[in-house]
Amino acid sequence: MDSPTSSLKTVSDDEEIDYSIKPEFYDSDLDDKDEMWMVKKRDGRTSDAVLSCPACFTTVCLECQRHEQYVTQYRAVFVVNCKVDKDRVVQQNAISSNVGKRRRDSEKRETVSADDETVNPVFCSTCSTEIGVVDGEEIYHFSNVIPSEP
Ligand SMILES: [Zn+2]
Repeated sequence: MDSPTSSLKTVSDDEEIDYSIKPEFYDSDLDDKDEMWMVKKRDGRTSDAVLSCPACFTTVCLECQRHEQYVTQYRAVFVVNCKVDKDRVVQQNAISSNVGKRRRDSEKRETVSADDETVNPVFCSTCSTEIGVVDGEEIYHFSNVIPSEP
């Protein structure tokens, strides 16, 4: 007596599934639009994350690019709540191993463009924690920051 009851139940389940398909069509259309918007947004504003000071959580950058190899490093041009110590100079190869890799290929050129390879330290303007460096082309390289979703 159990089997006719269960088969009857299966039929009613199928009916329920049919009903649920209709709203799903609307949902996938919305998803499509949402995805398009995301792609468009990424094209216009190439921000990978919002960066914050690790000590006081002040936002220091809204638009940045994550380093391709060193995922804890971020590059940015527009920053907020940052101050640069122009008096102190840091050797760039101490911070970015990417430059060190390139140095092997052009060791002679390194001596010529010695000025370009020096950078200034960047601090959080709120609590003065060192959060990264800025290079000669005014590109900020953050290495001591907390990233979060843009
Ligand atoms: Zn801070």
